Amino acid sequence: MNKLKIDDVDVNGKRVLVRVDFNVPMNEKGDITDETRIRAALPSIRFLMERGAKVILASHLGRPKGEVNARYSLTPVGQKLSELLNVPVAMAKDCVGEEVRQQAHRLKDGEVLLLENLRFHAAEEANDPEFARGLAALAELFVNDAFGTAHRAHASTAGVAAYIPAVAGFLMSREVEIMGQALKSPQRPFVAIIGGAKVSDKIDVIRSLLDKVNTLIIGGGMANTFLKAQNYSVGKSLCETEKVGLARELLELAQRNTVTLLLPQDVVVAKEFRNEAAFRVVSVSDIAQDDQALDIGPASVAAFAEAVAGAGTVIWNGPMGVFEMPNFAGGTRGVAQAVAQCSGVTIIGGGDSVAAVENMGLASSMTHISTGGGASLEFLEGKVLPGVQVLQDKSNMNTGE
Ligand code: ADP
Ligand code: MG
Repeated sequence: MNKLKIDDVDVNGKRVLVRVDFNVPMNEKGDITDETRIRAALPSIRFLMERGAKVILASHLGRPKGEVNARYSLTPVGQKLSELLNVPVAMAKDCVGEEVRQQAHRLKDGEVLLLENLRFHAAEEANDPEFARGLAALAELFVNDAFGTAHRAHASTAGVAAYIPAVAGFLMSREVEIMGQALKSPQRPFVAIIGGAKVSDKIDVIRSLLDKVNTLIIGGGMANTFLKAQNYSVGKSLCETEKVGLARELLELAQRNTVTLLLPQDVVVAKEFRNEAAFRVVSVSDIAQDDQALDIGPASVAAFAEAVAGAGTVIWNGPMGVFEMPNFAGGTRGVAQAVAQCSGVTIIGGGDSVAAVENMGLASSMTHISTGGGASLEFLEGKVLPGVQVLQDKSNMNTGE
């Protein structure tokens, strides 16, 4: 990565503002139901504490839409963090303003302060320069460790870097390094697996990957649109009729680029969209008028697994079927197992595919599980993420000293 990281700069005694992604899921009682995102930020936080920095953490939580709302307070996150770090974590009443600024300036080396939800201010998502300046006033150095919001130009992800030097945290740099390497000089064969509900969500990523991969595998609901483009009838399956022309264009592009494009050869169909519905496996040429294809079939899994087995690099984004329903999770499970067994570099992006892999207990068998669904998609599309762009280049060692 050509961006500076926290271990490239001197943080001792400095106030360091760290943008983390503490947007954790909570139940109605306000209990954190999954602390993965808090744990993911620990390496950067611990590093800064050990190096004698004054650590000021900033995050959003949920969608309070620019208003103070106790339901979205980061207080429970602060308590959990304190437990995980085994040190007190001070909680600020807000994220900007004189009182918070004083609290930040009173911190001693190695202490941790968690700011209140950034999105209690509409100025955060509006990337308001005054608000960004208010955040910058808390610290001398900015560390962006929130890959999940790096595709958004918000005050705390991009704007703040106009006022204080900005570098990448460990989580951020790992994301950018691994995915950047895969796109720039992948170990081949390079296989991409794209699935999920709709083609329209992933047109740009498919187009971009068709320039890079050796094999593109398409499954999930979006495969139906491609099957339709090949003149199969898909019955009542999820299908974007208005995207059939585009799917045909992408099939042609694959051919021109000599990319092997694999579509399902069999699917699991049902007459209704529910787990209890009777289901059967049919060839893609035998989908009835009243059938819905809800998963890929075993022959497709076998073909996809074979392509994955010999891969040097695999990127996977989007489940192969309606994996939330156990009867239609087999395709996603089969592909997840194949990716887990692959000895090449394996990268999982996309919120639902990541959840599927984690639920199947296969996360530890993957090289990299991206922490940002939308951000990883935009990264794979070849876009420069605003939250990455603002970080200082390695060649520019101006660290504010
Ligand atoms: P990701 O979050 O991994 O990028 P998406 O959000 O694009 O994935 O798509 C996930 C959704 O796609 C899931 O809710 C899943 O139920 C749905 N899906 C997958 N296959 C089908 C299908 N054949 N028919 C309808 N929905 C599907
Ligand atoms: Mg999703």
